[in-house]
Amino acid sequence: MSELLFPRVAFIGIGLIGSSLAHVMRRDKSAGWIVACARTQASLDTARELGLADEVTLDPATAAAGADLVVIAAPHSAYAELGRRVGPALKQGAILTDVGSVKGAAVRDLGPIVPPGVHFIPGHPVAGTEHSGPAAGFAELFEGRWCILTPLPGTDAEALARLTRLWESAGMKVETMSHEHHDTVLAITSHLPHLIAYTIVGTATDVEETLKSEIIKFSASGFRDFTRIAASDPVMWRDVFLSNREAVLEMLQRFTEDLTALQRAIRWGEGDKLEALFTRTRAIRRSIIEAKQA
Ligand code: NAP
Repeated sequence: MSELLFPRVAFIGIGLIGSSLAHVMRRDKSAGWIVACARTQASLDTARELGLADEVTLDPATAAAGADLVVIAAPHSAYAELGRRVGPALKQGAILTDVGSVKGAAVRDLGPIVPPGVHFIPGHPVAGTEHSGPAAGFAELFEGRWCILTPLPGTDAEALARLTRLWESAGMKVETMSHEHHDTVLAITSHLPHLIAYTIVGTATDVEETLKSEIIKFSASGFRDFTRIAASDPVMWRDVFLSNREAVLEMLQRFTEDLTALQRAIRWGEGDKLEALFTRTRAIRRSIIEAKQA
């Protein structure tokens, strides 16, 4: 597909997600001109070398000025400051979106700085790897995955359709929902699993040295899978937990109760309870495979 969707695009943050989307836009020629902004010159140099940007700047306001689409692709902890810098530079009719993993925080930090006449549509491409930075990006990252857009009531339908076309051009299936619903769903499907992985790998790191070498030596797929998740970017995940605190705490409470019930079943030798749960969870895995999300 080759369709010019946005004459001028600004990426505020050009790491894994920003650069992957920039690859898509280069491939499809859906952007006429790409400006990249990052925190460090080194990242901008890499983006340039990879051919992902026509122009680079360390100043978010310069990047956003005159852009038809501004994509915030930086960690959540930078949002409030970026919003203050970018807000006054946004042009009438522009679309401001983001790719952050927590949508309530995006609405809280970016919503108030959006001038009238600018379309603010928070988004979350649910795709990623444990790698970071502009060199980690690739166009195929999004293929076959979901992109969740969380437009606010009254969002312009044409702007929403154009942003949807962009994510569809990346091979994503696009769904819209409220930002509150997004944060509840992602707390259980993504945030809690990461927290559990960080805990398990953290526990293993704490055990005495000899045992630790055994853990690495005999690491079976279970532990290995957890280490991959626990290798995810520390800054991003710190921000996710702090930004989606309420929903994560709610899911963690439920998880703790379920874990205690399992603990009890093991203590009392209640094999039927364990087997019933493991049978149910196996069916969930099958439905994920059937939905081609494995
Ligand atoms: P990343 O690879 O670490 O890239 C972050 C980018 O933001 C870098 O270009 C960084 O610049 C820039 N940045 C950081 N602070 C900035 C600031 N104050 N001003 C301007 N630029 C700044 O991170 P990522 O994985 O692409 O994640 C970006 C967003 O996508 C996060 O909000 C995350 O929640 C979301 N997300 C991530 C994944 C995933 O699996 N990684 C999946 C879906 C959504 P420097 O390189 O110069 O520091």
